[in-house]
Amino acid sequence: MRVYNFSAGPSMLPLEVLEKAAAEMTSYGNSGQSVMEMSHRSKEYGAIIESAESLLRKVLSIPDQYKVLFLQGGASSQFAMVPLNLMNKSGKADYVITGQWAKKAFKEASRYGACRAVASSEDKTFSYIPELNSADFDPEADYFHICYNNTIYGTKFYQLPETGSVPLVADMSSSILSEEIDVSKFGLIYAGAQKNMGPAGLTVVIIREDLIGNARDITPTMFNYQIHADNGSMFNTPPTYSIYIMKLVLDWIESMGGIKVLEEKNKKKAALLYDYLDQSSLFKPTVTGPSRSLMNVPFVTGNDELDKKFIAGCTENGFVNIKGHRSVGGMRASIYNAMPYEGVEALVAFMKKFEKENM
Ligand SMILES: *Cc1c(COP(=O)(O)O)cnc(C)c1O
Repeated sequence: MRVYNFSAGPSMLPLEVLEKAAAEMTSYGNSGQSVMEMSHRSKEYGAIIESAESLLRKVLSIPDQYKVLFLQGGASSQFAMVPLNLMNKSGKADYVITGQWAKKAFKEASRYGACRAVASSEDKTFSYIPELNSADFDPEADYFHICYNNTIYGTKFYQLPETGSVPLVADMSSSILSEEIDVSKFGLIYAGAQKNMGPAGLTVVIIREDLIGNARDITPTMFNYQIHADNGSMFNTPPTYSIYIMKLVLDWIESMGGIKVLEEKNKKKAALLYDYLDQSSLFKPTVTGPSRSLMNVPFVTGNDELDKKFIAGCTENGFVNIKGHRSVGGMRASIYNAMPYEGVEALVAFMKKFEKENM
């Protein structure tokens, strides 16, 4: 039996995707080989990676003047790759500190130039998105960095900062493909695949072409966007199987009716959980303001023993990986695209029962 997996990442994948991959596991099409065994330079694999890119371009409406790169090293490698490639004029960059990932990105980039924290929500355990005023932004900055959805704390940006001609860079690891975005508002978007796109090992970068080609001399070859752009993400062996699974996920998104349809579903799932949390006398949401994430929903009872009892009860009843991040405590339900509405419904029913029995 499949469980409802609320993991923040790696996370649930659509059953249809896993079944399709299983059916094609030992022989893809008429090739007589698993996708895992194929040369990345073969004709069969070439069709897979091309289709993955064109599907991603289609579902996210990526404009022509953007390159799509399939890299490795996780979102964490982008924390260095972004400054090495983009921090090349004034040597300055602005960062908004909305959680641990934003902080890590800021810290890494500070090794390469003058990074400034424009605003932070650390004073209240990152439970909100700080208000941003473009008058505080550095017009000379080489880029402006945000973490669009804060996986650990359960907040997201609903309004993008007005950065003028300064390119906006966004870590979208935990929200990409969950809602429509206007790619043209960004200079660069990066995301690890393992939250909402596919298996770990693949990192997607969407970059405006004019931002490619000015990497610092010290940039390792493998960290240079131009190298990967010039070689169609085939400078070396790309994460072939992860790209293939992402292609199946994109096929699934298309079969569901596209991103807009998924966005509506995601809003409904999140509303169901938040509405219950807002009126529960046992469980409390840790984010109460207007910046609630649609993907990651942290909550607590305020009592460590009860939290533990609830988490154990969840696991017994087929709701797994619901323990919160150690910096927030309590619980976190990650409800990415692959989590069905029924999964959230079943969780809320279980929470109601637990509340009744423990008040
Ligand atoms: C998970 C996550 C990361 C780290 O991703 P890795 O692929 O493990 O490096 C970075 N940023 C955000 C927003 C994340 O959710």
